[in-house]
Amino acid sequence: MKKSLFLIVCCTLNALLLTGQNRTVIICGNLIDGISETARANTVILVEGERIVRVGTRDLIAPGDSIVDLSGYTVMPGLIDMHVHPNLNVSDYQISHLKGSSAHKALVGLKAVQDLLAAGWTTLRVAGDGDVGYANMDIRDAINNGLFKGPRIYGAGHYLSISGGGGDINFLSHEQELIPDGLIVDGPEEMRKAVRREIKYGSDWIKVLVTGAFMSAGDNPNNVHMSSEELKMAVEEAARRDVPVMAHAHAAEGIKMAVKAGARTIEHGSFIDEEAMNLMIQHGTWLIPTLSVSTYYEGTEDAYLQKAKEIRKQRKESMYRNYQLARRKGVKFGLGSDFVGWPAPYSGNEFAEYLKLGFTPMQAIITATAVNAQILKKETEIGTLEAGKYADIIATKGNPLDDISEMTRVKFVMKGGEIIKNEGL
Ligand SMILES: [Zn+2]
Repeated sequence: MKKSLFLIVCCTLNALLLTGQNRTVIICGNLIDGISETARANTVILVEGERIVRVGTRDLIAPGDSIVDLSGYTVMPGLIDMHVHPNLNVSDYQISHLKGSSAHKALVGLKAVQDLLAAGWTTLRVAGDGDVGYANMDIRDAINNGLFKGPRIYGAGHYLSISGGGGDINFLSHEQELIPDGLIVDGPEEMRKAVRREIKYGSDWIKVLVTGAFMSAGDNPNNVHMSSEELKMAVEEAARRDVPVMAHAHAAEGIKMAVKAGARTIEHGSFIDEEAMNLMIQHGTWLIPTLSVSTYYEGTEDAYLQKAKEIRKQRKESMYRNYQLARRKGVKFGLGSDFVGWPAPYSGNEFAEYLKLGFTPMQAIITATAVNAQILKKETEIGTLEAGKYADIIATKGNPLDDISEMTRVKFVMKGGEIIKNEGL
């Protein structure tokens, strides 16, 4: 009796394993898996629950499977944007955090991250955000708790800035002491406290503004704002909690200081020189140049952005030459757009800019998927399409290897096995 019961249990288990439950098979026209340097034809992806079980051929299809036919599409891993600010508003970002409550910011930011998800960005890293509180962490927690659909979110609550730096408000009189969008930190001990506070309220990255910025009023991206003592403290204190540091740095000297202090990524790196490139290669630091944001303010008449527009005009050619040289020398690149509230498909323009730096379309896509996952230390979970990974899968109608602008027209999005968007299928 016991033996036959055992057999029945075994057979049932076997049948479940063979036919599975919640099995979805995605038929891929063209597959970019994030690993191979070439696309593959005639493949299917078997998804069970929230994970990929197998990538193989059509003989994986079993009776009862739900089929998603993407045979006319190019299928690839969900995109990862390493630099977004869902709570910022490009036209008045330095004061927009004062206009709405943190609750309001959470609603606005939720809409922004959902739009990014629908555009193919299944994972985001927030590079500090424009809220007095921690709305972006609330958005992340609400999504992770299943209250709302949205992308995977990592990142920092705020950018840490010195007094008078890019995270401060520098255009009002001293009688008007308003709360700035950044967290103001002066000296190593204030840095220690700020890092601890950021982590306490949910940041899993620390963001520091090492140099001045393009977009903020009253500061200069050529100036190095933070001292090496402050930077060292930021990295050391964050490391105690296994939290990496992303360093906004335009001026070459600021890049070098951040690399030496142990930052994991350099954001922007606009005025990088060869010495800084060599240091980045030596330390294995990633560069995230965030090119979309500059192309955005190139065309704007917005008064707030005239400073950024002017610097961009003067330095654009030398910046692109620097990035091209950095790539040729072997500096490791990640990919992030610096999303600041523009219409979501805009972030996909980052890929076309990478081609100008000398990346092939395939290299740019692998950077935005497998490489970005590695920077996040999530490479066992996301970034490629292979067995065991989350089923974060997107598709375009045309082939982005032939026309990279396809990356701004993502037609199909699945996150963790759930179909988020299925346009025209
Ligand atoms: Zn930014």
